[in-house]
Amino acid sequence: MKINKHILITFVACIILGVPWLINKYPQSMNFIDGVFYYVNNNYAAVFLNKSITVNDLHNKYGAVADGNPKVRILIVPGHEPDFGGTEYKNLKERDLNVELAKKLEEFLKRNDHYEAIIARDNKSWNTDLENYFTNNWKDIIAFFKQRKENMIHLVNSGEVKKATNGVKHNAAPQNVALRLYGINKWVNENKVDIAIHIHFNDYPRSGDSSAGKYSGLSIYVPERQYSNSTTTRVIAEAVFNRLSKYNAVSNLPKEENGVNEDQDLIAIGSYNTLDAPSMLIEYGYIYEPQFADAEVRDAIFKDLAFQTYLGLQDFFGGPNDVSVAYDTLMLPYDWKDTLKKNGTNNNKDVLALQTALLLEGVYPGDGKTKNDCPITGKFGACTAEAVSQYQKKYGITGESGVAGSKTLRSLNGEYSLNIR
Ligand SMILES: [Zn+2]
Repeated sequence: MKINKHILITFVACIILGVPWLINKYPQSMNFIDGVFYYVNNNYAAVFLNKSITVNDLHNKYGAVADGNPKVRILIVPGHEPDFGGTEYKNLKERDLNVELAKKLEEFLKRNDHYEAIIARDNKSWNTDLENYFTNNWKDIIAFFKQRKENMIHLVNSGEVKKATNGVKHNAAPQNVALRLYGINKWVNENKVDIAIHIHFNDYPRSGDSSAGKYSGLSIYVPERQYSNSTTTRVIAEAVFNRLSKYNAVSNLPKEENGVNEDQDLIAIGSYNTLDAPSMLIEYGYIYEPQFADAEVRDAIFKDLAFQTYLGLQDFFGGPNDVSVAYDTLMLPYDWKDTLKKNGTNNNKDVLALQTALLLEGVYPGDGKTKNDCPITGKFGACTAEAVSQYQKKYGITGESGVAGSKTLRSLNGEYSLNIR
């Protein structure tokens, strides 16, 4: 009897003390895969509920901000490093474009007091918190990476997780760069970041430094479906994609044509299941696309890309659109004054607004053309001339064939002018 009681007490004590002890002893050997929390150590096959951030968690958090609760924390990561990495085209460096766009997104988020926007770096340096984190936790970051990688290999070998490839090749990052990305993931996990958004521009092998590549358009990468942050990320990414793809071409690279693409190997979105929070990587277009070349046009295009991203987040959260605008694009409303024509000395902003209005009219791009053939560029070329002709046909405007002259502009101003609204 006495011995049995002893055993019972020991047994109960083991359970009470043992579980936290195990979690402490093997914090890195647990893995969140496919909605389930596995012990990866061979001796422990226990399965727990997954603790990754859900869609409901985010909705509740957004709603609770009004009662003085913490804001929704969004980390914006301009892709690559302050002085290193990313693609280049003519005078454009991707790593700087990523910062330009990131800052615009940060501005929109800051206007909404439900969000706390954190930007990972600028052109010169990492933000101080991250820089200090890298310096003070480098060994832990390496250990974190190694452990998660081992866990993944174990799960793949045991058949619990399937190795997945989408066929898109990504450039491998140098080791330190890769570790800083894992460091960001670890920091995200430890600092209650709710959503991470990585900003990039794509590239495709070109024949020379100044020739454009074959493909164009945007794509969003999300974690492969077995990862614990995959479901929530996909819901957010679909909302953002719906907004972005209204005015912008979707990548026509064969493997990116879905728009929202799963990837198991991109560190930024949590390769080796390193992220608890949702994370998406947005390739906002290919760096050689014409609308990114001119600084003034690019500024307007980036503002709108940031705005569409913001509206997508608002759609996800179901929050009111607290940017008071008449249109779901910043290109409109608009007042046109000067005649616009192919190869004329046109004002870029006039043409940006014209192309956008024509898109909303359903005549841009023209018959049989795609947004990849005819992106919104601020430049009046063949695509715009054809669309103006279609618009004139639609409204019975004669005598200005393909030229936005006084009659066409009067018609457009009647619908899209500042003065009307
Ligand atoms: Zn990039």
